[in-house]
Amino acid sequence: MVLLNKIKNKLGINYRKKRWPGLIEAYKQYLPVTKKTPIISLNEGNTPLILSDSLSNLIGNETKVFLKYDGLNPTGSFKDRGMTMAISKAKEEGREAVICASTGNTSAAAAAYASRGGLKPYVLIPEGFVAQGKLAQALMYGAEIISINGNFDKALEIVRDLSSEHPIELVNSVNPYRIQGQKTAAFEIVDDLGYAPDWLCIPMGNAGNITAYWLGFKEYLKIRNLKLPTMMGFQSEGSAPLVKNIIVKDPETIATAIRIGNPVNREKAKKVKKESKGDFQSVTDEEIIEAYKILAKEGIFCEPASAASVAGLIKNKNRIQKGSRIVCVLTGNGLKDPDCAIKNNDAIFKKNIDPSLKNITKILGY
Ligand SMILES: *Cc1c(COP(=O)(O)O)cnc(C)c1O
Repeated sequence: MVLLNKIKNKLGINYRKKRWPGLIEAYKQYLPVTKKTPIISLNEGNTPLILSDSLSNLIGNETKVFLKYDGLNPTGSFKDRGMTMAISKAKEEGREAVICASTGNTSAAAAAYASRGGLKPYVLIPEGFVAQGKLAQALMYGAEIISINGNFDKALEIVRDLSSEHPIELVNSVNPYRIQGQKTAAFEIVDDLGYAPDWLCIPMGNAGNITAYWLGFKEYLKIRNLKLPTMMGFQSEGSAPLVKNIIVKDPETIATAIRIGNPVNREKAKKVKKESKGDFQSVTDEEIIEAYKILAKEGIFCEPASAASVAGLIKNKNRIQKGSRIVCVLTGNGLKDPDCAIKNNDAIFKKNIDPSLKNITKILGY
């Protein structure tokens, strides 16, 4: 047996035990699926939990900071976790069309999974506030896109009314199957670490994801008799309805994925905060960009909304107990919003250079 393992290690077999089947197949005993559910999957989930040396050092005090890089899902955000469930169940129920309001990532995921499952995706987006990469995805994955002269909250109001009157499945995070699929990210963290972190730092828009993580931790840790994490939710200062406990009429932030003034999961989020003895705080756009750059310099490119979790962690540096284990959720991939990266970086970028060896050698300082 030992010898066999040695040979397997040499061949690299132990590091790649089995093809990852997607999160429904992997965690089906925890999910509301049956043998009859047609599983629509792009093998989502199983995203890396990356130890961040720069953040661990920055926080200090023997803290270890891990990043749950959910931007590595098939369409580049955690929304795929919820969408594989929502679309599979919509298909099981015989639906032929789905609809969502979206700041971008939900529309990308809905379009990809619906098209893959043979359902028609309709998406409503706020005109001018969807990042380029996300719009490109919705267009390519075959959605019918309706861009409204209004914000996300208005779009959601319309799709909720529409779906209650017509046979179109609503796949925003009010759809309970979305939360079920998304809770698997918490399972993966516990599977990777062998325990739950002391803190989970996460950005909040509609607050579906923080609700899903908490559900996942509760379910998974209870049967393992392990300690639950403290849930730390972060919003942008100009779009902080949960922090301020108000409705924000005109939310404003560089982090368009969390530009939401009236979160549908408000009551659930409040419960998460209370049960986990957690906290909701806001971070400025400047702090978000600062965190965005720190991450990129360690090779991890996330979108601005995701960096809110890290900005929030940094803000709480002096509150963190010695030897803490912290996970920051990076909800979306940096490639989603190339404009933001091009406008906010410290790179040296010289243009219109004469292409001669001599000239370029000189520029490099040799
Ligand atoms: C959707 C989204 C969020 C917010 O998640 P909620 O479940 O709405 O709180 C955060 N970051 C990114 C990248 C997202 O796409």
